[in-house]
Amino acid sequence: MDAPNCDVLVVDDEPDTLLLARRILEMDKYTVKTAANGMEALDMIRKGIALPRLILLDIMMPKGDGWYVLEALKKDEHLKTIKVTIFTVKAFTKDYDKAKALGADSYITKPFRGEKLLEHIREKLK
Ligand SMILES: [Mg+2]
Repeated sequence: MDAPNCDVLVVDDEPDTLLLARRILEMDKYTVKTAANGMEALDMIRKGIALPRLILLDIMMPKGDGWYVLEALKKDEHLKTIKVTIFTVKAFTKDYDKAKALGADSYITKPFRGEKLLEHIREKLK
């Protein structure tokens, strides 16, 4: 992969979640880009518009869900090193297991607390 051009790409189909996550991460001076669905995220990444160090990835989205994005990235030699944190309301063991099997680095469930999100991202990007 080329050099990252942002710290975090937040991918979520809920505009309020995108805005909130962006505000929280920017409080800690992280550079943030956002995408409203999986297809948009993959397009931004493949075109180099967003080359993040970490992707905060919702699962349930129209136009390319999180599983699809995660699989596509991990299959790609150039993109598989991008860290992926699943960011979802899905909180069953089968979902955690699936995320792990597909190569996700970590998992945060929604609703989330700002402090927790920041702690998590700090740990992953230190
Ligand atoms: Mg969603």
